[in-house]
Amino acid sequence: MKIAVYGKGGIGKSTTSCNISVALAKRGKKVLQIGCDPKHDSTFTLTGFLIPTIIDTLQEKDYHYEDVWPEDVIYRGYGGVDCVEAGGPPAGAGCGGYVVGETVKLLKELNAFDEYDVILFDVLGDVVCGGFAAPLNYADYCIIVTDNGFDSLFAANRIAASIREKARTHNLRLAGLIGNRTLKRDLIEQYVKSIPMPILEVLPMIEDIRVSRVKGKTLFEMSEEDSSLKYICNYYLNIADQLISLPEGLIPKEANDREIFTLLSDF
Ligand code: ADP
Ligand code: MG
Repeated sequence: MKIAVYGKGGIGKSTTSCNISVALAKRGKKVLQIGCDPKHDSTFTLTGFLIPTIIDTLQEKDYHYEDVWPEDVIYRGYGGVDCVEAGGPPAGAGCGGYVVGETVKLLKELNAFDEYDVILFDVLGDVVCGGFAAPLNYADYCIIVTDNGFDSLFAANRIAASIREKARTHNLRLAGLIGNRTLKRDLIEQYVKSIPMPILEVLPMIEDIRVSRVKGKTLFEMSEEDSSLKYICNYYLNIADQLISLPEGLIPKEANDREIFTLLSDF
């Protein structure tokens, strides 16, 4: 199963991805998380450091794919989750899609792609233009992370449009939304009333999640020392269980950009 996680910058995609990856691993799945954000910090809370990126490694080896070994680019993170960072596009050849394409090509060449039960792509999604929609070519499911605000729901709606478009040629479904860093969910619910899609989970703002980023640990690792954090892990286990059950998902029908202004203000 291949899953692409999308959402507005800073919304919590990487945090959510890392914890879902561990949750899936706890359920016995062999998991690979691929960071597709040029920020290349997607897997930071899994490994505790910034691992070398695919693009850096390829550049170092003059793009001789045959000189790259799995251990050059695949790093084992917490809970046995394997981690890859695609990295940023080289200057002048700058396209996120190019980077994702090279990453998938290399992993296939290393025969790494078929080894996993779950491959999770952590992608940025402020603008789902050409390149950064590339993971949708490989994914079975997409998840969108959003808060209860206009901007992230606007981004979610753009991502929904990309999924609808890709689903014409690929077997791709939207598994659903994850609300993050919000106690209120009225705007999210207003959105899904008009643009139907499942809400997989809604997580509030939790200080220990913020701290996990600074510590470079997932909530699962932190909860080993502090069992009062287990309730946070349960949010992620719940999402993992829904994914493992292969949800039906759907092909969304997005609102147009103007409609969304009315949709999210008119109640
Ligand atoms: P993205 O990958 O979407 O850019 P990150 O996962 O890096 O976002 O999250 C941005 C910041 O928000 C991080 O410092 C992270 O710890 C924090 N964060 C994410 N989710 C929560 C939450 N539910 N509660 C508190 N802080 C959160
Ligand atoms: Mg990120």
